[in-house]
Amino acid sequence: MPKNEPALLGGKPALSVVPPEYNPIGRAEEKAALRVLRGGHLSGFYGSWDPRFFGGDEIQSFEQEWAQSFAVKHAVSVNSNTSGLMAAVGALDIEPGDEIIVSPWTMSATATAILVWNAIPVFADIEERTFNLDPAAVEARITSRTKAILVTDIFGHAAKLNELRRIARRHGLYLIEDAAQAPGAFYRGKRVGTFGDIGVFSLNVHKHIHTGEGGICVTNNDKLALRMQLIRNHAESVVADMGEREINNMIGFNFRLTEIQAAIGREQLKRLDGILCRRNEIAAKLNAGLDGLAGLRTPLVERGCTHSYYVYPLVYDQERTGLRRATIVAALQQEGLAVSAGYWNLHLLPMYQQKIAYGRSGFPWNGIRKTAVSYKKGICPVAESMQTERYIGFGISRYAYRDRDINAVVAGFQKIWDNIDKLTAYERQSERK
Ligand SMILES: *Cc1c(COP(=O)(O)O)cnc(C)c1O
Repeated sequence: MPKNEPALLGGKPALSVVPPEYNPIGRAEEKAALRVLRGGHLSGFYGSWDPRFFGGDEIQSFEQEWAQSFAVKHAVSVNSNTSGLMAAVGALDIEPGDEIIVSPWTMSATATAILVWNAIPVFADIEERTFNLDPAAVEARITSRTKAILVTDIFGHAAKLNELRRIARRHGLYLIEDAAQAPGAFYRGKRVGTFGDIGVFSLNVHKHIHTGEGGICVTNNDKLALRMQLIRNHAESVVADMGEREINNMIGFNFRLTEIQAAIGREQLKRLDGILCRRNEIAAKLNAGLDGLAGLRTPLVERGCTHSYYVYPLVYDQERTGLRRATIVAALQQEGLAVSAGYWNLHLLPMYQQKIAYGRSGFPWNGIRKTAVSYKKGICPVAESMQTERYIGFGISRYAYRDRDINAVVAGFQKIWDNIDKLTAYERQSERK
């Protein structure tokens, strides 16, 4: 067997030892959790109009520290980014049947947070370079019913936030950022997540920093902050006592984070910059090794931006190699590399294709105000072509990659590209079978 034989054809995998699992939790988090546990106050929230309505000491401190670090007026912690997005959309002046423009190339929760308030997700296409909402496509989707743009800073790179903010202002729309994957990334000298009226971060176990489950919303708007705090904690039972008259969408949930989670979050926040620094080092090594492989585009970082590399996104052009993406991805996976083909095309999920969400009769699409919104295949051609043939994601967050692991990852890619001819023959043969 030649040394450079692809594992798919029987050779030895390039990354033969599984790297250590990514785990940002250390001694400081252990001490913080114990401190809370020993004190016995595992949650400080009261679900009524009381000073404790806003949570206990750790929650208050965590929120203050997060707000300071992100240079925003308010940070509102929640028990997930999904809850945070729900609180954010609910905080706006949304009527059932209103439309919110969103990317199809994001996690399902981004769009579901719209539907939960009986508003209508309208999908606009993404741009090739960063996989984020294309401002021109957004503008083309605006109607008299549009109330907001919900933009995701996908994979850790900012969307065109200034352009989107200008569009939002021009049309009187809110801008919300789902910055789940981009904590600490910058856009034009300012932190991602702080460009919209509200930004939401995730603290789930897969993200850069985490509290097991968790999330945090940021805003400079006092009213939006309070409405999110209300939705977080049983709004409907509190508004009378606090004298709040604007009770539209003051439907409450229990989105409260615990004191132990907040204490862990405070320690995690201190680690964020170091974690991003290492991610960028790894990405630079990958770029150096993969740039120049025919038909493979390494991640682009736009001028004035930094990347948080939640995913290391690649674009593949099969015209250049003659090899289908499925074959390339299978070959890379056999080398032991954490790569996957495609991400999400949310508009193609059964819920949107069949317009079945609440009950069986098509609510909210055919509710009080019928909507003509289309989710047909073809409405987001860039996102769809990324999904069916072009996108390859490398799971940079999956492991605590050491330099030698990254060298092996690069060697794996190079080996596959060295063997394009052999793999092409293999692909033809499997097709004939
Ligand atoms: C992780 C993620 C979410 C959901 O976060 P949770 O904290 O698990 O609810 C939403 N949007 C994006 C883009 C994400 O990556």
